[in-house]
Amino acid sequence: MRRSDSAGGPARTVTAAESERYDPFTGQRIVSGVNAATSVSAQLGLEPPRFCEQCGRRMIVQVSPDGWWAKCSRHGVLDSTLVGRR
Ligand SMILES: [Zn+2]
Repeated sequence: MRRSDSAGGPARTVTAAESERYDPFTGQRIVSGVNAATSVSAQLGLEPPRFCEQCGRRMIVQVSPDGWWAKCSRHGVLDSTLVGRR
């Protein structure tokens, strides 16, 4: 993954957080501009994510009667109540 940042190019700051996103359900890298197919239940937030959106790691997922939480070893816990859609 190499980007040429020549001095003559347009001033565009590409942060790692912005350039790298992963599908929380498939773990595949999301390419901006391309909408990956997501299952309906996943879109509704009924299905817990299995991969970290920020690093693509497989997360520890725990489903509770109240919702779910998923834990990335690097980015911490993502909770369904934090996502705000149940
Ligand atoms: Zn992560």
